[in-house]
Amino acid sequence: MEQKEQLYEGKAKKVYATSDPNLVIVDYKDDATAFNGLKKGTIVGKGVINNRMTNYLMKKLEAEGIETHYVEELSERRTLVKHVEIVPLEVIMRNVVAGSLSKRTGLPEGAKPKMPVLELYYKSDELGDPMINEDHALAFGWATREELDSIAATARKVNDILTEFFASVGVDLIDFKIEFGRYQGRIVLADEISPDTCRFWDSKTKEKLDKDRFRRDMGGVEGAYHEMMRRIGLKE
Ligand code: UDP
Repeated sequence: MEQKEQLYEGKAKKVYATSDPNLVIVDYKDDATAFNGLKKGTIVGKGVINNRMTNYLMKKLEAEGIETHYVEELSERRTLVKHVEIVPLEVIMRNVVAGSLSKRTGLPEGAKPKMPVLELYYKSDELGDPMINEDHALAFGWATREELDSIAATARKVNDILTEFFASVGVDLIDFKIEFGRYQGRIVLADEISPDTCRFWDSKTKEKLDKDRFRRDMGGVEGAYHEMMRRIGLKE
């Protein structure tokens, strides 16, 4: 598939047009940001890892009946995906208290809610992605009732599948962020699933194996990303 003009550049990825208007190419960068872009840096090799890990997980979810935007891995950093219209919502699923939920509730990191918690945030860099609820999404036209129902059901199913998979490789899936797109009238899972967008803790030691090592200046950032590839069984 021929790569054409750049359509978009985000914080971690670039998107290019192709000769097929229904398909685009995503190109993963090593650039890392945190705190709504206030902290900037580079995680060497991250683009390759996030591309390959996302594709591996998207294929696994497809095999379980979840439609994703994944089409074909083109190179170590580039993937052909369906050209979706992104729903302007970040969907966060939480199995264990961490990060902003710990700040908001006063509960310690590591506390276990009675059930997985789904949260919605409005995708807006200018506003710093504020947390919203379903009424806001409906009232302001960001998604329809049917879309929200599909998104919530899919997010919970993704959580079940990924939690079980990561547990099998000795990793606790603490929380993660996913995004959805509209494609030919359907809601499909889009964007990425990687150590940038998930919290992964070693099941035994509770060592952090994700982007929190970058956010919190803990060191060992690249090593954690490589360790997650090794756990999943992806050769580098
Ligand atoms: N997350 C993300 N992008 C965002 C905000 C959050 O990928 O813009 C992920 C984050 O990596 C974590 C989960 O969503 O796995 C929950 O994040 P939280 O709300 O605790 O915010 P953070 O501590 O990342 O600011």
